[in-house]
Amino acid sequence: MTGKVMAHWYPAYVGLGSNLQGPARQLENTFDLLNAIPKTRLIRRSSLYRSAPFGGIEQPDFVNAVAALLTQLSAMDLLKELQRIESLRGRERGDPRWGPRVLDLDLLVYSDQKIAEPSLIVPHPGIGVRNFVLLPLAEIAAELTVPGLGRCASIDVNLAEPRISRIG
Ligand code: AMP
Repeated sequence: MTGKVMAHWYPAYVGLGSNLQGPARQLENTFDLLNAIPKTRLIRRSSLYRSAPFGGIEQPDFVNAVAALLTQLSAMDLLKELQRIESLRGRERGDPRWGPRVLDLDLLVYSDQKIAEPSLIVPHPGIGVRNFVLLPLAEIAAELTVPGLGRCASIDVNLAEPRISRIG
């Protein structure tokens, strides 16, 4: 016995999106960067999905995906790591909210936690309203219980949302 306390590994799900500078390649690179976050492992990744932009700004289609992680970091520390990766990929904080972007990372679910801080809302509100978040999440975690929303596979898709297709 060393007396060392075993750190807990928490499941976390991250949404990825890009519509600039080779979006599919951006996302493939990002899976590697997620796996390189300290005290964190990439466990599963969804297919890539192509989705039409929303928000009324003329811009290219987005490519989206979801990654499943196990992490010893807190939700807030994991968010900071996601923001560090966004900056690394050239994302400017202060870019327009629904505008084009090289990389957007959202912390979708962190363990069974519900967080409502000014800088962090978990589960991410997009899960219940955006198919480009819900569909890749359901692909890799159909049985996941999303706090406040229930079993992932049972959450309704948004029939009003623009087109989305799986691209590989
Ligand atoms: P976005 O333009 O979608 O990248 O939004 C970035 C802002 O959303 C940052 O200021 C974050 O602090 C905030 N935010 C709140 N909840 C989350 C979350 N679950 N994942 C990522 N960013 C979040």
